[in-house]
Amino acid sequence: MLVNQSQLNIVRAGSYITYSSLKEIGNRILESFPGIIIRYDLIHEDMPFVDSIDALLLTMILDEGIGGHTLGITDANLKTRDSDEFYNSIFGGKNPKNDVAVVSTRKLGPETIDSREEYDLFISRTSKVSVHEVGHNLGLTDHASYKMAADGSLCPMSRGEINRFGFKGYVTAIIDGRGFDFCDECTDFLSRVYDASDALH
Ligand SMILES: [Zn+2]
Ligand SMILES: [Zn+2]
Repeated sequence: MLVNQSQLNIVRAGSYITYSSLKEIGNRILESFPGIIIRYDLIHEDMPFVDSIDALLLTMILDEGIGGHTLGITDANLKTRDSDEFYNSIFGGKNPKNDVAVVSTRKLGPETIDSREEYDLFISRTSKVSVHEVGHNLGLTDHASYKMAADGSLCPMSRGEINRFGFKGYVTAIIDGRGFDFCDECTDFLSRVYDASDALH
């Protein structure tokens, strides 16, 4: 690996999400990858107001402007070039050619966040999609099936099928069903590839 994976740049890409929210998300990521991701920096990247942006293009912009191991968080719609209506708008994506993943908060929360519960749900969903995409950055792959972690929630790498649920149903069935602990298969992979004891030195 050319990039130091243990240091993650969390980039607010033209989003209104607050720094304290980003910190909560960053802390959840550290807890999900103990000894593998050991610190994060919060960075703001100015972007012209856009309603939607090509996901791959955004990863390239962030790789060029910031580089390294990076997670971009935007409230713009993330688009792909898929002609299928269900798949050309995504919650998150990762560019296999660099170490940049991006997450869209657009479909993860209520329009307005008025209560503590709504806020917590929004942070929890954004954190779960972020952990999934950072998992891809670290080499983990999607589970098409429903793999459980030891705590009984879905492994963060569970993918499921969007077109079986529609977007709203997908959020409640799959994203809300995920926890922050990985299944045995993912845990074995991470401990084989990243020697956590090395990362601490
Ligand atoms: Zn995935
Ligand atoms: Zn797993």
